[in-house]
Amino acid sequence: MAIVQSFGAAEEVTGSCHLLKLRNGLRILIDCGMFQGEGEDEKNRQHFGFDPRKVDILLITHAHLDHVGRIPKLVKEGFDGIIVATKATFELAQVVLFDSAKLMEEEYRTRYRKAQRRGEEKSVPKPLYTTEDVEDTWLLTHIRAKYDRPLKVAKGVKVIFRNAGHILGSATVEIRFKEEGKTHKVVFSGDLGNRDDLVMPYVENVPEADMLFIESTYGDRNHKNMKETIKEFKKAIRKTLLNRGNVIIPSFAIERTQEVLCILKDMYRERELPRCKVFLDSPMAIKATHLFSKFHRQLGPKCNLFYKEDGDVFDFPYLRFTCDVESSKKINEIERGAIIIAGSGMCTGGRILHHFKNRLWNERNCVIFVGYQAEGTLGRYIVDGVKWVRIYREEIRIRAKIYTINGFSAHADQQDLIDWIAHIKKLGKICLVHGEREKQSVFKKAIREKVGKRAHIVRPKEKIYL
Ligand code: ZN
Repeated sequence: MAIVQSFGAAEEVTGSCHLLKLRNGLRILIDCGMFQGEGEDEKNRQHFGFDPRKVDILLITHAHLDHVGRIPKLVKEGFDGIIVATKATFELAQVVLFDSAKLMEEEYRTRYRKAQRRGEEKSVPKPLYTTEDVEDTWLLTHIRAKYDRPLKVAKGVKVIFRNAGHILGSATVEIRFKEEGKTHKVVFSGDLGNRDDLVMPYVENVPEADMLFIESTYGDRNHKNMKETIKEFKKAIRKTLLNRGNVIIPSFAIERTQEVLCILKDMYRERELPRCKVFLDSPMAIKATHLFSKFHRQLGPKCNLFYKEDGDVFDFPYLRFTCDVESSKKINEIERGAIIIAGSGMCTGGRILHHFKNRLWNERNCVIFVGYQAEGTLGRYIVDGVKWVRIYREEIRIRAKIYTINGFSAHADQQDLIDWIAHIKKLGKICLVHGEREKQSVFKKAIREKVGKRAHIVRPKEKIYL
């Protein structure tokens, strides 16, 4: 009998990693993500809980770090099977993994130098993996999955990737195999998109499944109305620009940045955007945006309309990409009328800190938070209303107006998840993963009430029999 075990993202939202063992011994790993958040570093260093050398196939649902972030470690520890993902996911994962390795290497060097001065350099843990390890990952066999086309990955095993509408390249994965004369269909949702997402299309339905592993990040709630959210965002932009100020938007490089660009472009087209300069000041977000443009056919209707009407999805006359440090520094000289989009999304590092240092003290400026700010991050402190922040050893008084706009999300909410489940015919077991325990309990109850099915909350490493 086939077994599924979760070695990450069971009763938590990061570290996605599920292993499907078939009766014939074939082992298929679905995602191999990084645990994220304070104090999770140790967990990433721990043993996987299975032998990477014995994994035959790795399927990647999408390129977020919490789904791909431990792949170089998997390869370093002996995995040499085949990797299957959509073409866009491979390209985006490359950007994400190189960026992640670079950050870890930089952090290691800084900590090493500091420890050296105390004579304790031996105590500094080496990076989880390096740029070379990421390069090695690309030497393995890659198979590109096309949406909706069954793909044979081993004898008697087919996979079908369907657009999950979450980020570029994202997919739900169906694994079909025969055991004891019966064809089994196991589905992993990966992360599912938000119905109101401006950039991505709506998640595609899955016709049938014997067993479903579904994410439950927002299984406990429904999102705020998107129209209201966009209205709020536009109002903050207009008010600040008309008041001769500048707008700073801390943003995640993948998906949220492209969504922000879409709204700004829409404002420009509708003549709602006062004359200004929009800077995308993040090398990673620039790379991601180019990839979103390249694969524009996989995006939602709004993006395709933009592409059809002016030959590019995101570009418009006010937009500038500032890749190198020099052009990024030049933004500081602008007195008014700048919209600066920079990372990191939670303000824990990156170019956003320079912009904060230069602009937070001025009451004409504003900061618009468009993404979740985790506890303990600089972004969260600002959202919570602190009056002073310390950036690069300098105390900065916050006089800029702070807007927190909560309605954006790349994840399905409870209603989206329930609707998606309700479309699956002959649905057998429902297993909840990728969610916090309390939220999963609420979601489980909602599934019982609205779909009339029982769902099971998967515990870490628990063996689930097909
Ligand atoms: Zn994701």
